[in-house]
Amino acid sequence: MSLVGKLVCVQCGAEYSEDGAWTCSKCGPDEGILDVQFDLVRAAKTLTRAGLATRTRSHWRYRELLPLDEAFCPSDGDVGWTPLIEAPRLAAALGIGRLRLKDDGRNPSGSFKDRPSSVGVMRALQEGAKSIACASTGNAASSLGRAAAAAGMSCYIFVPKSCPDGKLAQLLAYGACVFKVMGTYAEAYELCNQACREFGWYNRNCAINPYLVEGKKTGGLEVAEQCADDPPDWVAASVGDGCSIAGMATGIAEMKAVGVVSWSAKMLGVQAAGVAPVAEAMKTGRLDRAGSGTTYADSINCPVPRNWRKAVNAVRESGGAYVTVSDEEIMEAVRATGRLTGVFAEPAAATSVAGIVAGRRAGLLDGKSSVVAMITGNGLKDIAGALKAVGGPNEIRPELGEVRRVVEGRKG
Ligand SMILES: *Cc1c(COP(=O)(O)O)cnc(C)c1O
Repeated sequence: MSLVGKLVCVQCGAEYSEDGAWTCSKCGPDEGILDVQFDLVRAAKTLTRAGLATRTRSHWRYRELLPLDEAFCPSDGDVGWTPLIEAPRLAAALGIGRLRLKDDGRNPSGSFKDRPSSVGVMRALQEGAKSIACASTGNAASSLGRAAAAAGMSCYIFVPKSCPDGKLAQLLAYGACVFKVMGTYAEAYELCNQACREFGWYNRNCAINPYLVEGKKTGGLEVAEQCADDPPDWVAASVGDGCSIAGMATGIAEMKAVGVVSWSAKMLGVQAAGVAPVAEAMKTGRLDRAGSGTTYADSINCPVPRNWRKAVNAVRESGGAYVTVSDEEIMEAVRATGRLTGVFAEPAAATSVAGIVAGRRAGLLDGKSSVVAMITGNGLKDIAGALKAVGGPNEIRPELGEVRRVVEGRKG
């Protein structure tokens, strides 16, 4: 049996058992997101630093804190346990004391979303499902396609007509059945929910499936364990739907609760200035459901985020803050992160680095601050976005003089 104790509504606090509904019946599916709570006293008995040292170097090492029975929690795998990369030149350029990058772009499908998708697939198998589905334009879909292919499960993906070719190619390569819905993202999302009910597919949509965020939590569990004796002051992460930062914060808090670490860190939630409903809700306490605006960082382009309340609570409880950054600052962060660390981040991932600039500006961070920035996706995920930030090559005729002209023209 897993150590899941109960599910609690993030809005009204109503409690549900594990076999019950996915959303709160009183608050409805829009606001009544449920939070999975574990028996941390029992988890603490076996989840110890000494015990962890001998376990798989993947996110399955945290089995006590995953919503999976033992038979469905793999003993080894290739998701997670991504490196924490020391970034002294980038730290100096940003004017902070220390920066470490948690490079989740190295996950098998290239993003942080491999964490929740892999947990979702195992949970679906545990519940006896044969097929799994989601609606997404990006990393959630490709990671689900990968996890389903790896587990031998069939997978249905609903994408809006705007889905970029690169992402489509990745999905099709993993053998998913892809529906390109000639409508908006909201229509694709609703159609996916309907199809799940109609055909009995397991629904991976994070907003209504409370178990997915438990996979995202492993990012926080890892940061805590990897920084156990050397904690950061802040953990910076970009925010779209809000599920990732909430999961990260829960992961760090649970590692403290079970006694693997004795510290907590402040969460720095970073949103694009053009689409910042969670940062706004942090101030006003409510969500503007009219949601408009846009950003170049497509993975966090969520005008009506579904997990806004979790995302606000998580940052507030950590003593942290939200900041917003312009698309121009995000592009600068893509360039600076690549050039000064060798980590190629997709725009939504470099947004956490851009948030450090905003944190400095707001007086939240100073020249001594130590930050871990989550790099949530690989730059190859969004070639057009990357090229927009980094510009083009030097086009020359095949002559040495042309090379000299470029070399001498370079400053520094
Ligand atoms: C999904 C995603 C995020 C944001 O996660 P949310 O749970 O939507 O807040 C950030 N970066 C990348 C690369 C993502 O794919």
